[in-house]
Amino acid sequence: MMTLREAITDAIRKKVAVGHFNISNLEGFWAVFRAAQKLGVPVIIGASEGERDFIGVKQVAALVKSVREEFNYPVYLNADHTYSFEKVKEAIDAGFDAVIYDGAKLSLEENTAATKKCVEYARQCGRDVLVEAELGFIGQSSKILDAVPEGVGLSGDALTKPEVAAKFVKETGIDLFAPSVGNFHGMVKDSGAVKKIDDVRVSEIFKATEVPLVLHGGSGTSDEEFLAAIKSGIAIVHINTELRVAYRKGLTLSLQEMPDEIAPYKYLKGALLAMQKVVEEKLKLFNNL
Ligand SMILES: [Zn+2]
Repeated sequence: MMTLREAITDAIRKKVAVGHFNISNLEGFWAVFRAAQKLGVPVIIGASEGERDFIGVKQVAALVKSVREEFNYPVYLNADHTYSFEKVKEAIDAGFDAVIYDGAKLSLEENTAATKKCVEYARQCGRDVLVEAELGFIGQSSKILDAVPEGVGLSGDALTKPEVAAKFVKETGIDLFAPSVGNFHGMVKDSGAVKKIDDVRVSEIFKATEVPLVLHGGSGTSDEEFLAAIKSGIAIVHINTELRVAYRKGLTLSLQEMPDEIAPYKYLKGALLAMQKVVEEKLKLFNNL
């Protein structure tokens, strides 16, 4: 089976992107895995600090490992947005394939030093663990927002500068880089089209850094914007908010349809299938299927 590093290299060669989907429970896990398996494409399961607290750090690692072995399938696990070295270490020790150290709120110097420490730890762990970091502000939470958050989006002054990114990547030795190119976490209410990606900036950053780029805050981005970004050097796309919305809607509908049902595996099925549908649609788009 190919490693995550190989899966990403392969995606860049094919000018497609690997989908990254966040989960916090078993339904989410199966939704993502089954969608990928159905389409025969590699996939990354993401779990942020909050999501990991809920599902369990070692438990989610064991889950991914068991499915990877049983199906011999390229499914990988990423510790999404991690704000301390201790939590990065915890995820690496648990067996995660990749970690994101998020020092975007720190000064460039502090972010560089802390990221470097995470890379050093990953390099000596005995496995090939990829480390990702980011520069420029892309918002923080995967929720439904009333308006574009202050300081993000194309009008924000937090857009990543290619030359600063290149220096940061070189100094830290990271494997993957998450730029701010108009993307932001969360989704603006009733308006799917507000996210515009600066694909020229994406290709400039890709050229300058020479590492695969990761697009965070993908939810609510149009298909055209995604395709242009992938063509310009985005190798991984993160989707979270849209899955959360699908889960909740699927669950609400199930509970309405079967008001007397008390077996979780029956009424949770609607939530799982609603998530799976979103993952399938995104994977088709990202993989040009
Ligand atoms: Zn993110």
